[in-house]
Amino acid sequence: MLAQIGVTGLAVMGANLARNFARNGYTVALHNRSVAKTDALLAAHGDEGAFVRTETLAELVAALETPRRVLIMVKAGAPVDSVIDQLVPLLEAGDIVIDAGNSNFTDTRRREAALAEHDLHFVGVGVSGGEEGALLGPSIMPGGSKESYDALGPMLEKISAKVDGQPCCAWIGTDGAGHFVKMVHNGIEYADMQVIGEAYDLMRSGAGIEPAAQAGIFTEWNRGELASFLIEITAEVLGHVDAKTGKPLVDVIVDSAGQKGTGRWTVQSALDLGSPTSAIAESVFARGLSSQRGQRAIGQEVLAGHEVPVELGADFVEDVRQALFASKLVSYAQGIDMLTAAAKEYDWALKMDEIAALWRGGCIIRAELLKDITKAYAADEAPANLLFAPAFSKAIGEALPAWRRVVSTAVQLGIPVPVFSSSLAYYDGLRRKRLPAALTQGLRDLFGAHTYNRVDMEGTFHTQWSGDKTEVEAVDTH
Ligand code: NDP
Repeated sequence: MLAQIGVTGLAVMGANLARNFARNGYTVALHNRSVAKTDALLAAHGDEGAFVRTETLAELVAALETPRRVLIMVKAGAPVDSVIDQLVPLLEAGDIVIDAGNSNFTDTRRREAALAEHDLHFVGVGVSGGEEGALLGPSIMPGGSKESYDALGPMLEKISAKVDGQPCCAWIGTDGAGHFVKMVHNGIEYADMQVIGEAYDLMRSGAGIEPAAQAGIFTEWNRGELASFLIEITAEVLGHVDAKTGKPLVDVIVDSAGQKGTGRWTVQSALDLGSPTSAIAESVFARGLSSQRGQRAIGQEVLAGHEVPVELGADFVEDVRQALFASKLVSYAQGIDMLTAAAKEYDWALKMDEIAALWRGGCIIRAELLKDITKAYAADEAPANLLFAPAFSKAIGEALPAWRRVVSTAVQLGIPVPVFSSSLAYYDGLRRKRLPAALTQGLRDLFGAHTYNRVDMEGTFHTQWSGDKTEVEAVDTH
């Protein structure tokens, strides 16, 4: 019997996706560069469904029904190109090559264009949910031709997570759209984790609340508007005691956060798009600062603190919760704003309601909040910014007094809250009638004759700063 899908790359993610397909009734052809992984998978889980063992890519391709669906789940980067190069001569027009790894969307755009030359479909699929999600139902973000989605989409929807019976999988858009949306998902994940860290630090260093007690607080928060996977696992990590020392595990973990690159890519893309994604950028930078352990050791010795003692209000913990919620809203607003900018730049028909809906289950940022975000973008007229949707402008307005109190308390206590504070600055920036950008434009005109527009008349102007300081209308040279 021919297989409906072939999976090459059977490390943890590929193996679990292959098992997920098989458990859902599909026949799955298996391939891995080193055959040992294929055999290990078959030995441990071969009875879970219909698998076809293959040793070479040619055998893998020969094992598939047409149009062939070959899912690549190898290490991101050059290995993906290497596998594609080996596959192309083996495939026929109309076949579908799927890259479900964490590839950069620019690589996906390049690969899609290259495979289109061979009349092959290339589908870049963002998969979130880690190992467990891949096995039990991830959130799936496929990009590529609509035609390829017709042949592949139903299978992906079947293996995806479900929320209210709806699959957490939908066609995202052409070429790199799926990987782009997955990248922004990861960027939001960075911000989500950072705001949780800031809340923890404020309650620990500011209010002296021990991790075990905080586990209870996060469990409680998980019952309300913050309900989400990350809040849930924060309670689990904070409640965990290290068996070796009897201390809270969080106290024996080195405070240097790693990163694999998708957060950095998100910020790089945001800069290219001119999208103010400050919450995600601050989260990436916060990880960077945490890993500068050498400098931090010196900083602890030579830099003054001059903290200002603050009497914490009785509602401090509730204030922190509200600040966390408001900052979280900002990071989602900025992520969606970035998606909007990318849709325009890359000509993708991104549907924010569908994207928010498929993030509701399976993925790391799954959260109750995404239900309301889905609703906000399903309305006839999508808001220009998530924060302008009535439900969210109301919610963030209600959190604002607590948010301001928390940020000023943190500043006085010398506790860094880069995302709490930069998100508040973004919020205030959005609502200010006049920004100091007017002065920036004046300065740019003085040192570089970069010109400015006036509030009271049409046109582009330049003041002759080094001459008689009269204003002239600038000639548009573009
Ligand atoms: P790894 O990223 O560790 O990659 C290992 C796999 O790649 C092995 O099957 C290996 O084969 C194969 N491989 C490496 N180089 C080559 C090559 N040149 N040619 C052919 N095959 C090669 O595996 P993961 O399962 O952790 O991740 C797979 C993808 O999924 C990555 O893009 C990752 O970023 C992404 N991802 C991972 C998540 C996770 O939680 N781990 C979550 C979401 C996405 P061999 O056995 O022969 O060495």
